Amino acid sequence: MRDATRVLKAGLPAPSQGAPFLPGPTFAGAFHAAGEPADSPYTYGRFHNPTWTLFEQALAELEGGPALVFGSGMAAATAVFATVLERGDVLALPSDSYYTCRLVAQSYFKEQGIEVRMAPTAGEAQRSTIAGAKLLWLESPSNPGLEICDIRALVAEAHAAGALVAVDNTTATALSQRPLELGADFSVASDTKALTGHSDLILGHVAVRDPALLERLRVWRTRFGAVAGPMEVWLAHRSLGTLDLRLERQSANALAVAALLAKHPAVRATRYPGLPEDPGHAVARRQMTRFGSVLNFTLGSKAAAERFFKATSLVYEATSFGGLHTTAERRARWGGDPVAEGYIRMSVGCEAIEDLLVDLAAGLNAAGPR
Ligand code: PLP
Repeated sequence: MRDATRVLKAGLPAPSQGAPFLPGPTFAGAFHAAGEPADSPYTYGRFHNPTWTLFEQALAELEGGPALVFGSGMAAATAVFATVLERGDVLALPSDSYYTCRLVAQSYFKEQGIEVRMAPTAGEAQRSTIAGAKLLWLESPSNPGLEICDIRALVAEAHAAGALVAVDNTTATALSQRPLELGADFSVASDTKALTGHSDLILGHVAVRDPALLERLRVWRTRFGAVAGPMEVWLAHRSLGTLDLRLERQSANALAVAALLAKHPAVRATRYPGLPEDPGHAVARRQMTRFGSVLNFTLGSKAAAERFFKATSLVYEATSFGGLHTTAERRARWGGDPVAEGYIRMSVGCEAIEDLLVDLAAGLNAAGPR
């Protein structure tokens, strides 16, 4: 079945007379569970929940491997780090991966005796970090740089060297890029972003090829309590039905916006993997079905970026990405990423493109020459 159909049906129970299509969230700390624990399908809310079960079924269908939902993208990512890596192991991580993944690797996991090796995403530079690594972490497209790496090629090289591979698939989502099919052992995502797409919740998940790895993650989630609330999971499942529609509109809008940025005199540089001239385009085309909502561009200065924001009315100044509304932020305001003061990460929303282009052109004209 095509994507639009798959997301509509993903994880839904078989039709049952008088039942809703998607059962509502189950709010339970404890479940009726007399006798032996195995006598009841659900016992305690930190162990399992029927709302998780349905959403995880949906994720498994989209990812092509069994999945577990976590309370956030970081809970999902750190569960992979913690269940794979032991003292003395090497973690190979992109030097331009999501800032907090790098931060926890270089602080907490390094303090646990794990060696952290880094190389950039672009140009397959991570090849140099594979020898002797236990886990190779990839992020493509990377956030916020939108660099692309050849996942299939890096996985093959890592597997030949005995390393496991995890892909942070947040920017793409499992509908646009399927890391498990490209050979990765783990597909990890912050579902706070495009997968759920309404900027109203924090959530994450991990999908795997090998069920034994899933069991280790499940034990970790249960014991460390990295769990999600049923309301968030239900909202996420409800939002899945429109994922294909949202991604299709966002990708088309983002391409039109990237084309505007690429030729506007106020813009020094822009990156979007969907632009044919983008350095990552050829590889992205091989491994992605759509190029998503996120792009970046550089204006002449912090003041130029501030003029841009002031002159637009459709762009919400906000962090995060992948939502229905166009959002953007000056990335340097956080520190952590080596970017220019005028560097803006933008997530293009589902607005009518005609309105968006007029609004963005007004912002760029106000930003002034580069
Ligand atoms: N991975 C990437 C690429 C992200 O952009 C983010 C959040 O911005 C995360 C992981 C962490 O996700 P969360 O904020 O849901 O914990």
